[in-house]
Amino acid sequence: MNTYTITFRGVNCYLIKTETGYILVDTGFSNQRCNVENALEGAGVQPGNLTLILLTHGDFDHTGNAKYLREKYQSKIAMHRDDSGMVEHGNLFYSRKRGNRVLRKLVKLMLIPLRMNLKKIDQFTPDIYLEEGDDLSEYGFSAKVVHTSGHSKGSIGFLTTEGDLYIGDLLENNKKRGPIKSSRIDDSIVFDASIDKLMKCSVNTIYPGHGIPFQMEEFKKNYP
Ligand SMILES: [Zn+2]
Repeated sequence: MNTYTITFRGVNCYLIKTETGYILVDTGFSNQRCNVENALEGAGVQPGNLTLILLTHGDFDHTGNAKYLREKYQSKIAMHRDDSGMVEHGNLFYSRKRGNRVLRKLVKLMLIPLRMNLKKIDQFTPDIYLEEGDDLSEYGFSAKVVHTSGHSKGSIGFLTTEGDLYIGDLLENNKKRGPIKSSRIDDSIVFDASIDKLMKCSVNTIYPGHGIPFQMEEFKKNYP
């Protein structure tokens, strides 16, 4: 399986070529739609060959083009049920435990404008709900779902048989500090349990939602 990284405005989407087509992990900001589309087409995506759109979680910077791409490429959207309210209602607080006080404050201060929630026209209902342990090989993708709550309730990762892990926003690769825990933790107890779970998994390369891919060993050095 080959992975192409598509990055616009600091958000990564990963296009994975399988034997039966393509899988797209996350879809970027809606205002980057043209760029994302061009990148997908340049890589060979056409209507009918995008088997699945996998969403690591419900935030608008990862889900902004999901509905549009589903229609354009006749694909299906899969994500965890616990974050589906975020994309059905365009509300980034929908399933967050504390309503996330910090985020709420930022919204209030207009540092995160409300328009940056998923726009009405881009809101959608997923086609497939994924849970811990689900096997994605029926979509041509040799990977399993790992439920990694903490950044949001329904955050999930996709761990391939080769040890590649598409992790969304649980971890990020900071330009200065290297691989670190998410800068936005919603529920720290659940978050730490997710990190513990990852430490026990057989992971080689981590593909984060923000920052370039890194080795699990690099993260372990920062968090022994
Ligand atoms: Zn996020």
